[in-house]
Amino acid sequence: MNFTPFNKPYLSGKETSYIQESVLSGKISGDGMFTHKCHEFFKSRFGFQKCLLTTSCTDALEMAAILIDIQPGDEVIMPSYTFVSTANAFVLRGAKIIFCDSRPDHPGMDEKKIEALITSRTKAIIPVHYAGVACDMSVIMELAKTYDLFVIEDAAQAIDSYYTFPDGSRKPLGGIGHLSAFSFHETKNIISGEGGMLVINDARFNERAEIIREKGTNRSKFFRGEVDKYGWVDLGSSFLPSDIIAAFLYAQLESIGNIQERRKKLWNQYFARLSEVKNNRFTLPVIPSFAENNAHMFYLLFETAEARTQMIAKLKEQGILSVFHYQSLHKSTYYQAQQPAVSGLLNSDRYTEVLLRLPMFYELSEQEVDRICDVLLSN
Ligand SMILES: *Cc1c(COP(=O)(O)O)cnc(C)c1O
Repeated sequence: MNFTPFNKPYLSGKETSYIQESVLSGKISGDGMFTHKCHEFFKSRFGFQKCLLTTSCTDALEMAAILIDIQPGDEVIMPSYTFVSTANAFVLRGAKIIFCDSRPDHPGMDEKKIEALITSRTKAIIPVHYAGVACDMSVIMELAKTYDLFVIEDAAQAIDSYYTFPDGSRKPLGGIGHLSAFSFHETKNIISGEGGMLVINDARFNERAEIIREKGTNRSKFFRGEVDKYGWVDLGSSFLPSDIIAAFLYAQLESIGNIQERRKKLWNQYFARLSEVKNNRFTLPVIPSFAENNAHMFYLLFETAEARTQMIAKLKEQGILSVFHYQSLHKSTYYQAQQPAVSGLLNSDRYTEVLLRLPMFYELSEQEVDRICDVLLSN
């Protein structure tokens, strides 16, 4: 029987030679040659003002929480349908998490429901661009301006995706909020095993971000010759990756066009095939008009949890691995043990129960996508 995994990490072929180059350079700690190459790549391709590679997206989110000076009791608004790190980064600094429901048509946070959650203690809004599809950033940035809040984009899944503002201007995701966090975990489009990046769109944070990333020291300034000794000047941790990781990442970045083209082709094939036949068991993903698709994920929404369970089994019988996604955080054991129960997050609850992700990776073949669609349409 043919076997189709859910994910398989893509390799451009240059990873090991760049790693070797990094090793032979004799400078394998952080902020070496390949880290700089990656930073320059992101700046030139996406126009990001300042980028700092981190060891994960989780770390980039933790840096963001320190940068906006979260204090115990501060409130942070985010979707419940997200990964734990979106919340943990702020909980670690004592923040209270206020969950916003997802949109009816998309797992991203419902921008219409944010304003009612804002209080005098609110410090930040954390939009999560689920499946690499933008949240409604113009509404979110306007709210942030009105109420003097920070916006930190969880752009973990959102590399090479865009948002179009009502005036027609277009910006890359991760380039809109005050700060943004990307992931290069092996399950994302562009990978380095583990890895991430903090993007700083508000230059007021530039200097302090370098310090926090370097254990609370002004070592980055020292290496640039701007100070003659370095020492402990702020809070911090070790958030910078080895240059060996950056070498791997750079090999991926050089292939970004190719990777994205392939993923989009497969995504479009799924979409076209599954729209051919009308069915009442599942619906296809919706991309809001202001968003673009970076083909991070292809998911279906089933009518019921049982229908999803049955389809997972049918696919598995044919050697095809499909997986559901987040348990909404307001239903998690950790959150429920700390906070009073939250209700009314009906869309978050629905995505928890009925969303199913299909195999999506560079080496997936057109024949495999066809085979998966056959199973989906005949069951
Ligand atoms: C993958 C992911 C993260 C965590 O990324 P790491 O690099 O593994 O820390 C955070 N948020 C979202 C939405 C993700 O998909």
